Amino acid sequence: MQKHCDEKTQRVDLAGGALLPGFTDGHAHLWGTGAMMGMAQLRGSQSIDEVVQRLQSAPTTAFAGDWLLGCGWDQTCFADRKFPSSQALDEAFPDIPVALFRVDGHAFWCNQEALRRAGLTRETPDPEGGQFRRDELGEMTGILIDDAMFPIRAALPRPEAEARRAIVKMAVAEFHRQGITAVHDAGAPEAWLQTYFDLAKEGELGIRVNAMVEASHKETLQIWLQRGPKRDWGRTGYLAVTTLKLYADGALGSRGAALLADYADEPGNRGLFTTTPARLETLAQQARDRGFQMATHAIGDAAVRLVLDGYQAVLGDEARADHRWRMEHTQVIAADDIHRFGLMGVTAAVQTQHREDDLVWLDERLGAERARASFPWRRLLENGALLIGGSDSPIVAPRPLDTFRFALNGPEAMTREQAFTHLTTAPPRAVFEEHRLGTLAPGMCADCVWVSGDLMTTPKNELPGLQVCGTWVGGKRVY
Ligand SMILES: [Zn+2]
Repeated sequence: MQKHCDEKTQRVDLAGGALLPGFTDGHAHLWGTGAMMGMAQLRGSQSIDEVVQRLQSAPTTAFAGDWLLGCGWDQTCFADRKFPSSQALDEAFPDIPVALFRVDGHAFWCNQEALRRAGLTRETPDPEGGQFRRDELGEMTGILIDDAMFPIRAALPRPEAEARRAIVKMAVAEFHRQGITAVHDAGAPEAWLQTYFDLAKEGELGIRVNAMVEASHKETLQIWLQRGPKRDWGRTGYLAVTTLKLYADGALGSRGAALLADYADEPGNRGLFTTTPARLETLAQQARDRGFQMATHAIGDAAVRLVLDGYQAVLGDEARADHRWRMEHTQVIAADDIHRFGLMGVTAAVQTQHREDDLVWLDERLGAERARASFPWRRLLENGALLIGGSDSPIVAPRPLDTFRFALNGPEAMTREQAFTHLTTAPPRAVFEEHRLGTLAPGMCADCVWVSGDLMTTPKNELPGLQVCGTWVGGKRVY
């Protein structure tokens, strides 16, 4: 850098640390992160009593009307490891609706008042791709899985424009603290896309957002199929909308991920598809015709195969062209399907911290052999797939330094170079931004992070001690 400096150059002493290209979180929910920051935090609760206590002492959620909202509970942390029922919530909060997101975001735990507000009764049938857990008498227990969450979501008060701006800004500030300068937002309805647009236009967004269109939101999808992809929406260099987001299944924790064989700890259950092959292909055709990329959530091997087959059917010979379609999570992949990612040019968006968190019950859910073959990062890379890293925040805290060190663990561990690449140069490539993001070089955007040590040489046991000391976006220090 010395030869680029003159007397006006501002110098920052990095105190032995390293300046790196800013991290991209290749799969996170930006607005969801901000929204969850405003809810009661239940992560790590060891019992139903502790959940109730935390709810009783939590501040109210500013944008939620009289609803009590929380996030982060996990029944596998409770003594009996069973799904709770509405009972404890009904006793503590008989008059206000309570809705609590499970730690993976794929289930609600509600009280009866929330069910009543959403118009749900024992007569309501299970939707496709979702389940209302019921007791022996057929009454709803208050646990709503995957697509059964929609009635509650629809009943929740919608934050107004001002609240939406505040929510996004809160999330962006947290991302800055973690050294993140770009994010792929894994699905936003139109109202939130407009909020990103407004903030970008006013120079207030502060992070490069590639926001995916939430295709399950019908109006949003219609608007964007008409509008077409926007590579630089608003011409600010901060916002792009180029991808349609769809869900093919649920998650392993709530046994909603669609598997080719039964869950090892629940014979007869193979999880849930949240789309049909026909719907996937219709959407993929629309995406191809309008020039959108596709991104489909697929966690179980049955869902992964369904998505690969669907992409293949729609792309045909173009499967070798530069479409950069992607799949989100890809935690369990049949051995026969791994090479298809590289072959078809499908990006795998993976989250190394999910593996760390899931290890507690992974053997139980999948059986030892399937568990050992899960999260197959090394084989995906060996077979030529583009692998991009992310946190899936707010499911997991958005911390690229954690994502990096967890990539070095397990039977499918990445090398340090691969782990670094999957957080820096690979994600921009996945969204056609590699010409300006992901490296430190003349002509690239000045998006950088200052880390307290060198990711390549710091001993593995000292990696948890590394810290983000500063973050710059577009040459401006934001943290
Ligand atoms: Zn996600």
